[in-house]
Amino acid sequence: MARSLARNNAHFRRAERRLPLGVSSNFRYWGDQKTLYVKRGRGARLWDLDENEYVDYRLGYGPVILGHCHPEVDAAARDGQQVGTVFAMSTEREVVVAELVHEMVPAAELVRFSNSGTEAVMAALRLARGVTGRDGYVILEGSYHGLFDAVMWQADVEGLRDPSDEPVYLPFGKGVPGLVRQLCFPVPYNDANRLEDVLRRQHHQIAAVLIEPILGSCCGIPSTPEFFRAVRELTTRYDVLMIVDEVKTGFRVARGGAQELHGVRADICTLAKAMANGYPIAAVGGREDLMRHFGGGGVTHGGTYTAGGMSLAAAERTLLLLRDTDALDRVARYGRRLQDGMAAILDAQGVPHCFAGHPSMGGLFFSEQAPTNYRDWKRSDYTFYDTLAQHLIEGGVLCEPDSREPWFISAAHDDGCLEHTLHVFEEGVAATSRELAGSGAPA
Ligand code: PMP
Repeated sequence: MARSLARNNAHFRRAERRLPLGVSSNFRYWGDQKTLYVKRGRGARLWDLDENEYVDYRLGYGPVILGHCHPEVDAAARDGQQVGTVFAMSTEREVVVAELVHEMVPAAELVRFSNSGTEAVMAALRLARGVTGRDGYVILEGSYHGLFDAVMWQADVEGLRDPSDEPVYLPFGKGVPGLVRQLCFPVPYNDANRLEDVLRRQHHQIAAVLIEPILGSCCGIPSTPEFFRAVRELTTRYDVLMIVDEVKTGFRVARGGAQELHGVRADICTLAKAMANGYPIAAVGGREDLMRHFGGGGVTHGGTYTAGGMSLAAAERTLLLLRDTDALDRVARYGRRLQDGMAAILDAQGVPHCFAGHPSMGGLFFSEQAPTNYRDWKRSDYTFYDTLAQHLIEGGVLCEPDSREPWFISAAHDDGCLEHTLHVFEEGVAATSRELAGSGAPA
């Protein structure tokens, strides 16, 4: 029987009168009849206003690494509230969390806290500019670094004929000043030659290269180990700073994030999502000689809500659980079992496919080979994914409705989740194949 969305839809009609699109983030609007509102989440599951139950593979775009309403993290957060909210002064727990962050991510020799990934990346870029005295920066096509003007640029690749053509770079939306574009040097992902070209010619204008180790908003396309190491070598050679944005990968793909997996140390890195199981806190960390520029070297960093008591306590507990338990192993193991199960179903039904990213945040592609950069991803056909996603959501498997976000796994995903997911997946793939065969669309 089809889900009822009567309450969700009624709520949407009320919400859209007071909230643009009825939501608090453009990305939460899925259509007038499809926008869901959450009643509650527990573990790896959530329920919408109509009490439809879902296995959650979005996890708030990644943060909820231990599952929704984790009892120990929530108890710690309540304990943190007893300290108070904000004082415009520091509290004792900041250094405790900073020490944990450094222990797990050694590149973070010193740490400053922010509230969100966006704020942390802004602070990282300002620090790089402050230290080097240069305003330019490299971003890699397909990356997402948050919602601030400097990083809201994407390549318009539709009309490109030749891979060597230079695309036009468009802002993510209106209101991003075109002037900002002059400071931004975009380079295709996984293309060390192009990066070297840009650095050779313009390094005297460039403060930093920003890299997301896995394109967490472009289907989980990973940086090849060679490219990641090349970014390290080239930035060192041209005296440009390497900022690794581990907002999504940090404390998720390994305790020490992608830097641990690749054996590469950033000059500056940003951490956020999995750090506090969903409580609002982020961190910018980096080499001591750089980080001392905050304050002492004249680089400004602050914010009324930075290092709030509740979030710090949640971060401390989450990091201890990630450090001292097998939570991340369980996350990765579930991710692999999920991919194996999906692969068996797709093989049996003759649907070409592959996976990208990391089992804890994996992208699913309906082609023999995953794209390795944004341009190829953008030109691929996502009809199969988009159609399948609607069947999965209808059946209670909450993946991202479009293919940009990878599937996020938490330590709370269990055998029951897996069984339900694969059952719905099997039916969804068959239904999708039937529909696309009927419509004449490429299957
Ligand atoms: N950097 C990366 C790599 C991200 O994935 C995100 C969020 N998806 C951000 C920065 C921005 O973080 P926030 O949404 O917390 O501002």
